[in-house]
Amino acid sequence: MPAIIDGKKISQDVRDEIREKTLRLKGERGIVPGLAVILVGDDPASQIYVRGKKNACREVGFLSKEFRLPSDTSETKLLDIIDGLNRDHEIHGFLVQLPVPEHIRTDAIIEAIDPRKDVDGFHPYNVGKLFSGNPYHRACTPAGIMELLDRYEIEIKGKEAVIVGRSNIVGKPLIMMLLERHATVTVCHTRTKDLPKVTRRAEILVAAAGKPEMIRGDMIRDGAVVIDVGINRLDTGKLVGDVAFADACERASYITPVPGGVGPMTIAMLLRNTLDAASIQDK
Ligand code: NDP
Repeated sequence: MPAIIDGKKISQDVRDEIREKTLRLKGERGIVPGLAVILVGDDPASQIYVRGKKNACREVGFLSKEFRLPSDTSETKLLDIIDGLNRDHEIHGFLVQLPVPEHIRTDAIIEAIDPRKDVDGFHPYNVGKLFSGNPYHRACTPAGIMELLDRYEIEIKGKEAVIVGRSNIVGKPLIMMLLERHATVTVCHTRTKDLPKVTRRAEILVAAAGKPEMIRGDMIRDGAVVIDVGINRLDTGKLVGDVAFADACERASYITPVPGGVGPMTIAMLLRNTLDAASIQDK
């Protein structure tokens, strides 16, 4: 049996550390980190995410603000709110919960956010700086994966890392984060020829395709570290990852479960980015 990477526990450890640092920041410098979340429309999944973020803020002692806007909100109105938050000294980080309704241009919204307050790490400034060094903020899910590897003291330097999935929010930023730490990185997608041949090379295999249990045991190298980012709801209601977990356990040395692996790390990293944002903006 591989070691199970307990994202729920690590996420709680990170939050406990953030709560302590927040208390110190408040006591020593009178700063309370503030996070605002804007939700446009009534997508049920987005509402759950926003509630989770608000509760997490409360738990670590942050100020939290929430903007719930109707789905017919104009892009101009949304840009006005963003402009206000860019100037709001109580708010150190904020995000617009994606996806936004179709009449709103996602790029225009993300680009309007002050990069120092872009705690999702999606602004082109932060994305570009991830390539050249020292972004203000890094995308939360890949940052959470790096945190899990580090907390389990998994060596990254010199390792063959294979990422399945090249989205802007997971696969692409993760390429740079692993490369920065001296892994040899390969990224796969729907046009990759002979996917199993590539994944079998991986000493660190990250599955972020959003395809239930597509990574079978025979696609995994013996002793690989397997990180499953996928969150897929089956018709039966069961939640599964992109990795066939029981099969993978026959081969992996470490593995993240779904749920309770990468999932809980995303909000923890959002809180950490917000705490960092509060420190940057006080300088
Ligand atoms: P996207 O749909 O944006 O991207 C999926 C990527 O996987 C694409 O690059 C696609 O390739 C690739 N892909 C899909 N099918 C295959 C296949 N059969 N073989 C090889 N590559 C494939 O997804 P996201 O990155 O947004 O999310 C991926 C998964 O991670 C989802 O299950 C999502 O729910 C989960 N997720 C979890 C988070 C968390 O834990 N907090 C946060 C974000 C996402 P191509 O580019 O060629 O289309």
